[in-house]
Amino acid sequence: MICQFSTRKISYEEYNKKYKKDIIYNRDDFVPSGVKLIKGTVTAFDPDNNKVVVDGKEEVSYDHMIVATGLVLNYGGIKGLEGVITSSGADNAVVRQKIGKNGTHSIYFRDGAEDTWKGIQELVAKAKAHTGPEKLQALYSMPATAIKCGGAPMKIMYLTHAHLEKAGVANKGELTFNTAGTALFGIKEYADAITKQFEKRGFKWNFGYNLTDIDTAGKVATFTKTWKEKGEYDEDLEEYTMVTKSQAFPYKYDFIHVTPPMGAPEGLPADGAADLGGDVSDETGADMDSMNADIGGGDEFGASDAAAGGAETAGREMRESRAIARARKLAESHSIMSRLAK
Ligand SMILES: Cc1cc2nc3c(=O)[nH]c(=O)nc-3n(C[C@H](O)[C@H](O)[C@H](O)COP(=O)(O)OP(=O)(O)OC[C@H]3O[C@@H](n4cnc5c(N)ncnc54)[C@H](O)[C@@H]3O)c2cc1C
Repeated sequence: MICQFSTRKISYEEYNKKYKKDIIYNRDDFVPSGVKLIKGTVTAFDPDNNKVVVDGKEEVSYDHMIVATGLVLNYGGIKGLEGVITSSGADNAVVRQKIGKNGTHSIYFRDGAEDTWKGIQELVAKAKAHTGPEKLQALYSMPATAIKCGGAPMKIMYLTHAHLEKAGVANKGELTFNTAGTALFGIKEYADAITKQFEKRGFKWNFGYNLTDIDTAGKVATFTKTWKEKGEYDEDLEEYTMVTKSQAFPYKYDFIHVTPPMGAPEGLPADGAADLGGDVSDETGADMDSMNADIGGGDEFGASDAAAGGAETAGREMRESRAIARARKLAESHSIMSRLAK
């Protein structure tokens, strides 16, 4: 699990000296007794026979299965970038060919987070040396998909601004938040508060702007806005057809924070409703005996923790994880998971 210290300011140096060792754990030390850990990747699902295939060779059978594969970071979904990686995976070389240097950054994986801090420092240094009347451009993207940590793209923007301000050069930079969405936050009260914060800091923002193309060498990021317009009148249907229109908005940048589109790993749909041989869309768990599979995990439904946290703080009822609810029901009637990985 990846998270950040959201509630109080901790400098990078302080983190490295004091906290890094406290937040990176050895997973194997936390495996409960009675659980057999299989180190490998599920490469195929065989729901008809209640089996999965690990690393293309080892078959593992199950009575019940919970799928909690998290979201993958689809940098390759943006033209000009490559790679589909996980936040925790070490194999990120393909992404780091373009991300993590030359003003192009992304905190969504561990090495990327460290590179982003260096990128912010480079921007601050550039701002200090900057003399022209035009402002340095810093961009922050938010994709059209569900993402991990919905607040992270804005938090990076606030951090950039705070460091520019601390160095006395906030007036040398223009920070723009381009979101594919239609609001700054899913809960109105929070969106209103964020809008005030953006205005106070002089941030710019645009709705419906999706990062589709990036030229990292030339430092140009292109955001595409799509919308529907009334087209020809259809005599048969007696209504106007709707035509999809789009417009590209290229931005020159000095610094960009890329939040990649995210989704379930290949073979599983992003909405967590994979067809693994049964009805997994039923929240009551009524069909669990026939399906024998749950899709779950912190990122199920793609609900961001920031939005969920916001909802909780606002006193709204948080929806319980479907997987956890089902697991609880299962535990009531079965000795759950006992054969998960025999
Ligand atoms: C920058 C950042 C900041 C965040 N900050 C916070 C925060 O402050 N608070 C908070 O609550 N949340 C935060 N989150 C979100 C949090 O990290 C996720 O919600 C959480 O990690 C999701 O847990 P998960 O177990 O569902 O998925 P993951 O943590 O993604 O774990 C899924 C695991 O499944 C493995 N896997 C994938 N495919 C397979 C396969 N085929 N076979 C076997 N294994 C597989 C993956 O390698 C991974 O180990 C943040 C996320 C990011 C990226």
